[in-house]
Amino acid sequence: MIIYTYQYKIKPTQQQIRQFEQYLNICRSVYNFAHAERKSWLESRKSQVDRCSIISEYIIPADATYPGYNNQAKALTLAKKKFTHLKLVNAQCLQQVLKRVDKAWNDFFKIPDRGFPRFKSKNRFRSFIFPQLLKNCLGQGKVKIPSIGWVRIRQSRAYPVGFVPKQFQVVKRASGYYLMIAFQSEEKVPDANPGKLSIGLDAGIESFIATPKELIKSPKYLRSQLRKLKILQRRLKKKTKGSNNWLKLQKRIAIVHEKVANSRKDWQFKLAHYLCDQADNIFVEDIDYKSWSKGLFCKQSLDSGIGSFMHQILPFVCWKRGKYYLQVDKNYTSQECSNCGEFTGKKKLSERIHNCQHCGHTESRDINAAKIIRNRGITAVGHTVREKACGVGLAVRFVLSKPK
Ligand SMILES: [Zn+2]
Repeated sequence: MIIYTYQYKIKPTQQQIRQFEQYLNICRSVYNFAHAERKSWLESRKSQVDRCSIISEYIIPADATYPGYNNQAKALTLAKKKFTHLKLVNAQCLQQVLKRVDKAWNDFFKIPDRGFPRFKSKNRFRSFIFPQLLKNCLGQGKVKIPSIGWVRIRQSRAYPVGFVPKQFQVVKRASGYYLMIAFQSEEKVPDANPGKLSIGLDAGIESFIATPKELIKSPKYLRSQLRKLKILQRRLKKKTKGSNNWLKLQKRIAIVHEKVANSRKDWQFKLAHYLCDQADNIFVEDIDYKSWSKGLFCKQSLDSGIGSFMHQILPFVCWKRGKYYLQVDKNYTSQECSNCGEFTGKKKLSERIHNCQHCGHTESRDINAAKIIRNRGITAVGHTVREKACGVGLAVRFVLSKPK
């Protein structure tokens, strides 16, 4: 099964803009309510049964069940009778909101490093999903959204042939509203086989990534755009919060942000193709970049978008080009010598050079790590560790749209 997500800019009427805003507001209130319900349930269970919490908590009966997805979905159906404004939003749309809460909480229980789920402010809640579509919902330059009707879009690219639209997502950005259409095909994804040439990639600290041959930095224009963004953000601090000038500047910052994100994505796609030109097999570390970015590497990794490159763009491009992609064990890649295989001990973050005490091999630290990752990948392929490879059974998901 293949899933492609195409993105189109929406050209909404005034009436539709009001409707989108209403959707966002109601969905957000449902999200926050469902989140609060879970949070207070959890908090009511924090202190022991025979005493009270120091902080005041809701008292929730001991036998009350955890408000999981099924319970909340039932409660939502009941709530609709009482709060009629909930009926203004497509019912499945609201269910998707509860699924989002559910996913945020499940992710948190699975990987606590990612942090506790949050309440959503207007800035953090920008999209809603229609999981089921009407028949013949695609027209030239327009689409039919359930409960909303025909909406005009900018047909920046043709719909893919042989694919069925499965889901709409309306996203609000600084530059307007966008529609993401998930297209699905039952076609089998051909399985890529390991080839001869291999490279390993290490997420660099000085550079964006390191390969066994070179350090690749992000391009100058991206860095200068980021600098521009920083200057604007500094200016924002001096303005009175909520004032007209503050709002104006914030709008401008949001647009620059979007621009940076677009050009970064464009560059990352080109980089992925460049890497695919060089090798048949590409190996990366199995790092959870989301929690990684919360720690030591916070700043750079958020600026560079390394996670989405390693885990989304690269596997997608590899798959398209018939190259073999595999994630290998991430542990101690910086503590091993790529020349003699000896363990060289922990390096400080400031130590940029790998210098082996055993064989005297000297090299950039990141390039050494990239070689280790490559070697591990080659070993793994030899032992046919294939479960994470991009191929059969793996739905490839990525937004395919040309940045402006
Ligand atoms: Zn050595």
